[in-house]
Amino acid sequence: MKRKRPQHAPTAWQSSAQWRLIGSAAISEWNAERSNLPKCNAARKRDREPCQLIAMENGKCFIHGGRTPRGDEWHRTQWPDGKSPDAEKRFRKKLAEQERAARKRSIRLAAMSPDERERHKAWHAARKPGSAAARQRKRDERKQAAEVRAMTERPRPAPSAESAELADQIAALRVELDSRRDDEQKPKPIGAFA
Ligand SMILES: [Zn+2]
Repeated sequence: MKRKRPQHAPTAWQSSAQWRLIGSAAISEWNAERSNLPKCNAARKRDREPCQLIAMENGKCFIHGGRTPRGDEWHRTQWPDGKSPDAEKRFRKKLAEQERAARKRSIRLAAMSPDERERHKAWHAARKPGSAAARQRKRDERKQAAEVRAMTERPRPAPSAESAELADQIAALRVELDSRRDDEQKPKPIGAFA
């Protein structure tokens, strides 16, 4: 980025030793602070090592997705504000960016193996844009489905000796119950002195 040269000469105060001292102290302070700030861990292009730029709120730097909008705007193109004086320029720039990204995407897709393309499709199907609430609902549904799956796939415990014994007792009781029922169904002798 080109920077405009200052139009005016520095003042006497700006050329003073004290000004420089204040400036260098501020820079040292910032350098000491920045070494303790969390760093972006995305793999950088040139050597695939962690990027190391200062991370933003979501743990990535401003280049590697730190500026990706969250909430309702997640995964949606952020068009420039129409009220800004250079709105048209920004809009054209954004449009060109979108087109460039689409071209890159189609090249990447064309180079994929069928297996990779399938995985790519599944990844995007699971990350559809939408309101934050709708996406949370989807997440909950997926979690529930996974829990149900885990529950149904869990092997049933083998019958213990205790439960086998209980089953025997139940079977014996059932036999006895059946025999009593048979007795009750027998025609009752007629008369009071049977
Ligand atoms: Zn980064």
